[in-house]
Formats: sequence, C-alpha cells, structure tokens
Amino acid sequence: LDVNWQAAFNIIHSLEKAGYEAVIVGGAVRDYLRGHLANDVDIATSALPEEVKTVFSRTADVGIAHGTVLVIHPLSPVEVTTYRTEGSYADHRRPDDVQFVRSLEEDLKRRDFTINAMAMRASKEIVDLYGGQSDLKAQLIRAVGNASDRFAEDALRMLRAIRFSAQLGFAIEEETFKAIRKQAADLSYIAKERIKAEFDKIWTSANAKEAIYYVNDTQLVDYLPVEFSGNANAWSNFESRGNPMNGWAFLILLQRDENALQLLKAFNCSNKEKVYVQQVLQAYKRRITPGWTARDYFEFDLPVLEIANDFAEKLNRNIGNLNSSEIPHKKKLLTIQSRTEIAVNGRDLMEWSGKKSGPWLKVVIDKMVDEILSNKLVNERQHIKEWFSHESNIEK
Ligand code: ATP
Ligand code: MG
Repeated sequence: LDVNWQAAFNIIHSLEKAGYEAVIVGGAVRDYLRGHLANDVDIATSALPEEVKTVFSRTADVGIAHGTVLVIHPLSPVEVTTYRTEGSYADHRRPDDVQFVRSLEEDLKRRDFTINAMAMRASKEIVDLYGGQSDLKAQLIRAVGNASDRFAEDALRMLRAIRFSAQLGFAIEEETFKAIRKQAADLSYIAKERIKAEFDKIWTSANAKEAIYYVNDTQLVDYLPVEFSGNANAWSNFESRGNPMNGWAFLILLQRDENALQLLKAFNCSNKEKVYVQQVLQAYKRRITPGWTARDYFEFDLPVLEIANDFAEKLNRNIGNLNSSEIPHKKKLLTIQSRTEIAVNGRDLMEWSGKKSGPWLKVVIDKMVDEILSNKLVNERQHIKEWFSHESNIEK
C-alpha cells in the first residue's frame, strides 16, 4: 500500500481508538474506486480540530478556521478536517460561516459532485449516500442534491464540473448541465485566479476539446475574465506536455485578436508564466517564418521549441516537416549552448576597447553569438580578440 494511504489508515485507527469517527473522503475515494491511488488522501472526522490535536503529537494548523489540521505522520503528512456543514452563501463564492458537526452524512451533503461525495472507512467499507458509485460507472458528473442550489451557493462548482469531466473523460449529467447554463452569469463572482486554476487542470487533462465545448455550450464562455473565442475543434489533438502554460499559449494562438498580455493578465498569470508564454508565441512565429535558425535553437529552451513546433504543425500546413525528436539533437549540435560558454566576457571587451559598459556591449555580444553559432568565429580568446579589434575598426 502507498505510504499516504498507510499513513491515512493509521491516523483513522488512532482517531477511532480515541472514540471518534474518521474516514477517507473526496478525490482519494473516487480515484481508488477507479483503480488509481491518489497522492492526496484527505481524512474527515467527527473530532473537533482541538480534539484532533490532542490525539497526535505532531500537527500543524493549516486551515484551522475551516476545521483542517495537518497531522504530521512519520510516513506522510495528512490533512484531517472536521465534519462540517456550510452556512448560507451570500456572495456565491464562500460560505458565510461553517459549522462543525458530528455526522458524516451532513459533511458528505455539502460536497459538490456525487463522485466526490463518497467516504471510505478503515474497513474499506464505502459510504455512498448519493449514488457516486453508479455515476462513476455511468461516467457522469452530477451535482449532489439540487444542482441549481449548489451552483448558486458556489459558482466555481460550474467550472469544476467541466474540469472533472475533462480529467475523467466523463459527461456532465443533464440536470447539472442545464443548471450551469441557467446560472452561467454567476461565474463573474469568482476570482480570476480560481478560474485560472481550473483551466490549468483542463489544459493538462486528456479532454481539453470536450471541455471547450462545454464552456461554450453552457455559455460560461461569456462570463470569463476576458472575451475568448473558443474554437473547440482546434483543440482536437492539443497536447499540453504536462505544462498548463502551454494551454494558455495555444488559447492565445486561437484568438481572433491575439493579445497575449491582455489575456494572461485577465487570468492573473505570474510574470514567470507571462514570459514563458511569450517565448512560446515568439518561437512559434519564427518557426513559421522564416523558420528556425541556429540562433533560435540557441535562444529558446528545449520545451519551448518542442511545444512551438507541435503548435506550428497543428495550425499550419506546408511549413516543412521538423520531427520533434530532431530538436534536442539540433540544439546539442550548437557550438555553444549559452552565453556563459563564450571564451570572453563583457569585462574583456571593455578592457580591450577602453570603453565603459553600455548598450554597445549587448550589440557586440549578440553579433559575436551569431558569428560563433554560424562557425564563422572560433570560440577561443585570441580569435575573438582579433575579431573584436576588427569589428571596432569598422565601427570607427
Ligand atoms: P483533485 O484530484 O483535483 O485534488 P479532489 O476531488 O480532491 O480532486 P479538491 O478540490 O482537492 O478535489 O477537493 C477535495 C474535495 O472537497 C472534493 O472531492 C469535494 O468533495 C470537496 N470540494 C472541494 N471543493 C468544493 C466546492 N467548491 N464545493 C463543494 N465541495 C467541494
Ligand atoms: Mg484534492
């Protein structure tokens, strides 16, 4: 048995010995029943947070306000959350308050979808009050209870329905689907980073195309933080290579008005993410015209080149074939892999010319990189010094 599960079962036994009820809940149960062992195993318990803390020697308060205590078990840390119900949802995002309860049934009732609302006892008995196992078999995402009410409470659940459908390859059950379409506008209550997080998971799922269909059909598309034209068919053979940012880059390529920064900002992407996506877009453009030179193989990181090549082949005909497997090879064949491999540095150039640092340095080094990459200049101190003095003379 996986260490996380072993830790979880040990923790449940300890809580039971102390007189409480404890179960594994949510995604871990769902994935177990599908034959996958999730890395993330969550426990729910009748014990109050303070009670949980008295049972275990090492704990951390990670979300104590919501009833979550991290139990630091020697095999693996596990989150233990007190059974709770949620009060009213005035803002369509978060419950106004949560109440701790002693009943598992109450806790399962507040969960979003039937397949996420099952529990497993230490005996491996499954507690399934809403038909989660039958929906797993039928491959359906179905809201627990009245879909409309559940989406009114928390509008993010509408996007979560699509995200789980993409990750699992399941359809959204009809009543659940209709409720999303009816209440799509409520998505505007949800913070853009939470929306982004769901899309990140959609992009790295195996069913991005179906998800885009759903985003369009439910009309959620009209309430996203930025207008985006969702051409679902274009996503047919999209492959994220495990990086959600590749999904955002692909999305931008499909927009009528290709304003990368505006879209990335609208979803609150980090600077690092923005830089990455813009590199992919730039590599893509150069792949199409004029085609990659040694300089491109040098400037772009391997993952950027690989995904840009995928996109170019998907979105353009007649651009000439470049087998993805050739890319690492072409990169390796470059005379230098990075600027640090150049046999001289900026200080040398300043010393040789007697000039102070300034924009001229970048210009010279850029030119030097080109000369070295095209094998016109040998990457060796003396050669570079001669080349440089010749360059300086031309300039004068
Ligand atoms: P993943 O594999 O993506 O982590 P998960 O099912 O564990 O899937 P989480 O977002 O980690 O999903 O949530 C854990 C559990 O908490 C869910 O299975 C569900 O029972 C419940 N849950 C999470 N978010 C919500 C929500 N917005 N509304 C209702 N229940 C929720
Ligand atoms: Mg989880």
